[in-house]
Amino acid sequence: MNKMRCTLAARRLACYLDTIGIRPAMENMTNRERYRLLLPTYSNLPKELRREARRHGRRIIREVGLIEATQHAYPTWAIAPTIQLTRQERAEQMADLMRQSLGQCASCSSWGHPKRAWPTRELAEAFRPFAGDMSLQCYECPVDSGSYHLGHRNEVASSVSPTAESTVV
Ligand SMILES: [Zn+2]
Repeated sequence: MNKMRCTLAARRLACYLDTIGIRPAMENMTNRERYRLLLPTYSNLPKELRREARRHGRRIIREVGLIEATQHAYPTWAIAPTIQLTRQERAEQMADLMRQSLGQCASCSSWGHPKRAWPTRELAEAFRPFAGDMSLQCYECPVDSGSYHLGHRNEVASSVSPTAESTVV
């Protein structure tokens, strides 16, 4: 199984198991090792329990997506950069990124706060670890093309606020 499939399979299993309260400790493991731990854990469950876990798990994944579904069961460092930065380095890196930001978007907001805009996809993605949520996705601003935001999938479609139209016209 290739690396990506392994990662996805491990996450899927973690989600299934989580729905029935099983959360194996998975610190300091590669995704392949997680998969090797989760698969027998899951396979050794009684058939009924397995079916229940799968049913719940699939529903949750369908509703919120795989990453979101496993976020609490699956440590975020699984997809966060593994390099440990000192506080100083982190602050410098963040300041450096912020200097390259386009500032706040005039059209998009989330939770009442204007969205930060980035001139490239790469910069938006580089900011993701600092946003504290590795499940955020990068997308092009629906109003100001050529600028990029980070957001959750469900808000991507509706990220244009009702007041946006008037400012565009
Ligand atoms: Zn925008």
